Amino acid sequence: MREVIALEFISLFQMLSTIYVRIEPHHETWMLWLKEKSTQEIFEVAIGTILVQNTNWKNVDIAISNLFKENINSFEEILRTEVGHLEELIRPAGFYKQKARSLISLSKAFSSYSSRKDGVPSRKELINIKGVGKETADSLLVYCFNSPVPIVGTYTRRFFARIFGEIKFLQLKYEVIQELMTESLPSDYFILGKFHALIVSHSQQVCNKVKPLCENCQLKSHCTYGQFHKKRPELINIQNTIVIPKKAK
Ligand code: SF4
Repeated sequence: MREVIALEFISLFQMLSTIYVRIEPHHETWMLWLKEKSTQEIFEVAIGTILVQNTNWKNVDIAISNLFKENINSFEEILRTEVGHLEELIRPAGFYKQKARSLISLSKAFSSYSSRKDGVPSRKELINIKGVGKETADSLLVYCFNSPVPIVGTYTRRFFARIFGEIKFLQLKYEVIQELMTESLPSDYFILGKFHALIVSHSQQVCNKVKPLCENCQLKSHCTYGQFHKKRPELINIQNTIVIPKKAK
């Protein structure tokens, strides 16, 4: 199975790249995340990874614009801001108390990395930041530090489960899926970051969690779910909110 999947990951990336000339929705945000960034842009991307948790980009944009209006455009400025005021500014992104504390923890960590020789933290260091899990840590590595690591999110699991007709992608450990991707995709932060962006984009527009739009999907002829879900009822379970058992996280 590994060989088949290895081939498929590469061709999936190529097909998605051909289908989506623009990575909609939020094309501009993805373009910022994929390009070489200034210090302020790295700040914007890093706080975006925290603010976007459990909300949409529209709300994140309002929260970031509230911060920028008050000239809070660096990790140092976040640390200078009174926590209650920070909470109010990011309130549109939801979970504002929790996220304010995560932003402070993130800012302390990022300020310490910048004074180091290479300036690049380890994955373990990132996971130690409050509010940063495996997916966010890997997103920070790819989009802020140009490190080539695959990102495994809920969309990734559901997309692969449907394409390969393998429900186990919903339960496999994060690192197992990451290893499969590492073995078969180029070690290039841009490709890995773009692959993640394309999967998220495709999942939000076409491969919805409930009733994916298979009839309109250009991947249908390559997708097990798209071709066989009417004949294989177990595939229908690859929908709705994915609940990953605790021990498999
Ligand atoms: S064919 Fe259906 S299940 Fe497969 S990728 Fe497309 S929308 Fe998703």
